Amino acid sequence: MATSLTFIGGAGTVTGSKYLLADGGRRVLVDAGVFQGEKELRELNWRPFPVPPASIETILVTHAHTDHVGYLPALVRDGFAGEILATETTCELAAIVLRDAAFLAERDAEHAAERGYSKHTPPLPLFTTADAEQALRLFRVVDYDTDVDLDAGWAARWTRAGHILGSASIRVATPSASVLFSGDLGRAEHPVLRAREIPPGADVVLVESTYGDREHHEPSAKAHEPLADLIRRTARRGGSVLIPAFAVDRTEVVLQTLTTLLKDGRIPELPVFVNSPMALAALGVYRDARFAGELRPDLDATGFVDLPHLREVHTTEESIRLNDPKVPCVIISSSGMATGGRVLHHLEHLLPDSRNAVVLAGYQAEGTRGRALLEGAQHLKMHGRQVPVRAEILQDEEFSVHADCSELLDWLGALTPAPSQVFTVHGTATSASALAATASERLGLPARAAVLGETVDL
Ligand SMILES: [Zn+2]
Repeated sequence: MATSLTFIGGAGTVTGSKYLLADGGRRVLVDAGVFQGEKELRELNWRPFPVPPASIETILVTHAHTDHVGYLPALVRDGFAGEILATETTCELAAIVLRDAAFLAERDAEHAAERGYSKHTPPLPLFTTADAEQALRLFRVVDYDTDVDLDAGWAARWTRAGHILGSASIRVATPSASVLFSGDLGRAEHPVLRAREIPPGADVVLVESTYGDREHHEPSAKAHEPLADLIRRTARRGGSVLIPAFAVDRTEVVLQTLTTLLKDGRIPELPVFVNSPMALAALGVYRDARFAGELRPDLDATGFVDLPHLREVHTTEESIRLNDPKVPCVIISSSGMATGGRVLHHLEHLLPDSRNAVVLAGYQAEGTRGRALLEGAQHLKMHGRQVPVRAEILQDEEFSVHADCSELLDWLGALTPAPSQVFTVHGTATSASALAATASERLGLPARAAVLGETVDL
């Protein structure tokens, strides 16, 4: 029996990661993410899954970001009943992420119903809280660096990827092939986490290509100086700084950076609000002593976030009050690409005032509001109306926790044995092709960009 691999998502785009392995009637899925960004992509979330979810035996998860786990509740609702395997901290974070995703999906459907701007009548959530809870019951913890037996001659192994807490590359061995899924790869060093490690090689390798066509700028001589300067400037003119941040990992890294800037006397003491229940819950996992071994050895696990004026915003009332901050402050809120969540209300209130500033702290996918801001949009559409953009916009690339082109090549080049085929995934068509071309040229590896929906025999 030959093993086949189908790219159900995360091919030709950065979101929706879903890779199906099949061999002798057995089906194993790696990651189950939702598509985000442009409307035509988001609509793919509503299509029937290409195989009956009940026919999938097991789902293996690389990490807890929504574009890798956010579709799990839909699969469970539609019949998947096997195990979902992930590292311990991924299980912890996935519980936070999936509950939040269900809550947002239900709330957005309600809002759309009230304002009448959905095409579904009545507007439906992609999945419900009950679906998310059911999915969470199927999670089972696996260890890093250990072969996990999947029966029938299949095995899988998780290796640290240094991208977010719990993140991993997964190597799957079937009776006739071996496939390595890079997952999202961190940079050589992560500001908070243990660094990524090199997994054992495989015949076929899927490597992410978020930044496959780019090199990160050399960090400024003084780390994050453009950000520090922006915070000083904005505070002087009486404005506030809004940082849309992915709730999981980016918020921790932003808080740790602010802690360092404040300790070094490079920014004034301002109130720092974290307005994202999900980010606060994730922060709890990062600071949990049980998981201290997953952090950088040179980091104080409990003290890496140490801001005297850190305010946690939990309730909706507190969140609404924050729309009109009386004194300059820093607000960190999700989602990171401004596709939804509480950050939208802050953008609505802060963008029209030129005293304020917005810091983009991560990758901004095509079609998202974050990308529009990055590209200098004069207006932003939110809740069905156009909001003028007058606030200052800064992109701080030093926050990136995705490997750039050279760092991806370093990872590929270190695999032993070298792969006989490389597919570039989790990138736009441009960055995926660029990484494939560079990998062929510089490493002599047969590489090409994966195509959404295609099945290849391995
Ligand atoms: Zn990720």
